[in-house]
Amino acid sequence: MKNKVLGIIGGGQLGRMTALAAAKFGIECHIFDPDSNAPAFQVCSKSYINNYEDIDAIKDFANNIDAALYEFENIPLESAEIIETLCLLRPSSYILSISQDRLVEKNFLLDKAKVQTAKFYECNSYEDLINSVSLLQGDSVLKTRRFGYDGKGQIKINEDTNLIDSWKSIGSNELILEEFISFKRELSIIIARDHNGNVEIYDTVENKHKNHILDQTIAPAPEITDSISKSAKNIAIKIADKLDLIGILAIELFELNNGDLLVNEIAPRPHNSGHWTMDGCVTDQFEQAVRAAMGIGLGSTKRLFDIVMQNMIGEDIDLADKLISDPNSRVHIYGKKEVRPGRKMGHINTVIT
Ligand code: AMP
Repeated sequence: MKNKVLGIIGGGQLGRMTALAAAKFGIECHIFDPDSNAPAFQVCSKSYINNYEDIDAIKDFANNIDAALYEFENIPLESAEIIETLCLLRPSSYILSISQDRLVEKNFLLDKAKVQTAKFYECNSYEDLINSVSLLQGDSVLKTRRFGYDGKGQIKINEDTNLIDSWKSIGSNELILEEFISFKRELSIIIARDHNGNVEIYDTVENKHKNHILDQTIAPAPEITDSISKSAKNIAIKIADKLDLIGILAIELFELNNGDLLVNEIAPRPHNSGHWTMDGCVTDQFEQAVRAAMGIGLGSTKRLFDIVMQNMIGEDIDLADKLISDPNSRVHIYGKKEVRPGRKMGHINTVIT
């Protein structure tokens, strides 16, 4: 593993924490992001400040690394495919292509991985929307197929909604209409899988959102039954195996009152709901992503502490000053120059005593 170089596509906080994890093994990171202020550039050995569509820069990046991973899904598939011809890309561009499009992803989950999701319909026209609303009968959520995150690109629909206004305001005609789920709570699970098919799975956690953005993760999910915990693991294994995953994958789940689990979405990268592992587990999610990409072999996901992970969004960053000397807390700050409402600035992991 010595003197190897990992390429990270995307220079946000996830890329930054991945680079910090790689540094522990003496692995250098080259980071690719069009934004010269990307926080991961502060902690890498080479910065590519180029657009993701810049094929010459993409080729140069890929020719100078041993393996690459991506820290977010919204990179052009063509660029990922080029990288994959020049070095290892882990997770693969195939997995990226599935996770980039909610419709493709949901069809994969149902038909290939054979796991449950909310009911959904493809909507490519206003007529499709009308038909889907009547088929679903009840509240629903209109979602863009691509480029949605933290609740962006989503409109809740109920019987009072003016459908034509919703159709016009969502700004895309590649959509799905999904049944609104009255879930008991939101859970997530992260699985790591290596090039030999070995898997390591983190404990299932509970996630609480504020304004559609993750606010808190509680690890492990309080009072989770053995049977739900087992189903979450089985779902994770089925999806990872069917994807032939090499890397890590986060799976967001809705827990229903009857104990059933529905898969909401998947993310083939470190995930905000896995930040607790940095202070709660033998091997954190970032190190695990590095290990899988570089073929080092996976680390143990054993939980050492129960943790509450609190995101610091916008002005919440002031919380860091209060908790920096708390004996049970660890503060992680992402080094973003500008504080903006809704922007993830850092997080705090507190051990539950
Ligand atoms: P997503 O971008 O799909 O992860 O959605 C963001 C958040 O919106 C989720 O974490 C849920 O809190 C909520 N949400 C998304 N889809 C549904 C649904 N079908 N029913 C109820 N809530 C949903």
